Amino acid sequence: MCGIVAAISDKDVTPFLLSGLSCLEYRGYDSAGIGVIHEQLYCLRSHGRVEKLSKIVGENKIIGKIGIAHTRWATHGAPSENNAHPQVSEDIAVVHNGIIENYESLKEELVKNGFEFKSDTDTEVIAHLINHNRNSANLSLREAVQNTVKILEGSFAICVISKNNIGEIITARRGSPLLIGVGEKATYCASDASALVSETTKVVYLENGDVASLSTQSYKIFDANGKKVERSIQTSHISAKAVDLENYQHFMQKEIFEQPAAILNTLEMALGGSSLTTNLFGANADSIFKSIKSITILGCGTSYHAGLTARYWIEDLAGIPCNVEISSEYRYRNSPRNKDDLVIVTSQSGETADTIAALQYALNK
Ligand code: GLU
Repeated sequence: MCGIVAAISDKDVTPFLLSGLSCLEYRGYDSAGIGVIHEQLYCLRSHGRVEKLSKIVGENKIIGKIGIAHTRWATHGAPSENNAHPQVSEDIAVVHNGIIENYESLKEELVKNGFEFKSDTDTEVIAHLINHNRNSANLSLREAVQNTVKILEGSFAICVISKNNIGEIITARRGSPLLIGVGEKATYCASDASALVSETTKVVYLENGDVASLSTQSYKIFDANGKKVERSIQTSHISAKAVDLENYQHFMQKEIFEQPAAILNTLEMALGGSSLTTNLFGANADSIFKSIKSITILGCGTSYHAGLTARYWIEDLAGIPCNVEISSEYRYRNSPRNKDDLVIVTSQSGETADTIAALQYALNK
């Protein structure tokens, strides 16, 4: 998980990008970077938190009316300035949230085509591929992104800018979240609405496979087949407080102290009279629950361990055999499935790639 924010406006977007990044730091914070275009493409990156990046940006006095920024939580390559985003291929800069599973084979091909890699990230592959696709078929930036995402395996949300294309930001997502913010003479993009609270509450959630082109006054969205599509504008109700660190030392500490209130809010919403109602799980839940013979709980890390505790409670209270598995193990092995098995997936962020893929695997079974 990590945070992406991007903006195109009739004024300098640098201050907004930095404040937006601070709101997204709860998503990951081992390094950060920003790329803006003002005649040239300027990219600044640093190891550590957004505050450090802000200082560097202040010292270098970069400005631009179009830009992308990123707070990283490394998956490929150590947390370092070199591996921070944006990752660049000539005039093209990319920020990326997620994991490209086939990056090694893509990298091999790109190296054969003469591309030189400067980082250990999977993300750099995306930047070079867009560059390669655009140049080899003389495509627009949007078309090059559209062709590139078709061959990427894994999960991603990306924002792309090019110094040769200063009126446009291209974004795309599959698996990882991304939304567009609609402003006055400005269009924004971010991993979640918290980064946009200072500018707009009008948001458009991109769907899996979408590629969008953002300009100052408007935006266009294309589905995975390149067909122009409409996605509804929604009003975000997120409060600035939700992403404020307040007096806590770090976001994990804040989340731990928020647990009693989070449980209270969830139960308040879920309790029907004095017990949980099965309707919460969908219209057919009652009859489905009655036919269940076993339960499988899937998760990674802490979610997996929470599942181990839940197993004791479920078996004790419901008397139904309950198995707990790590999501990646579940999806990469082929075991016989019982059709009356209830699969419960758990993820703190809701974005754990292995858990989302395990859910899909369970549905296919
Ligand atoms: N896989 C990318 C990297 O390691 C992105 C990680 C993230 O989502 O922050 O740079």
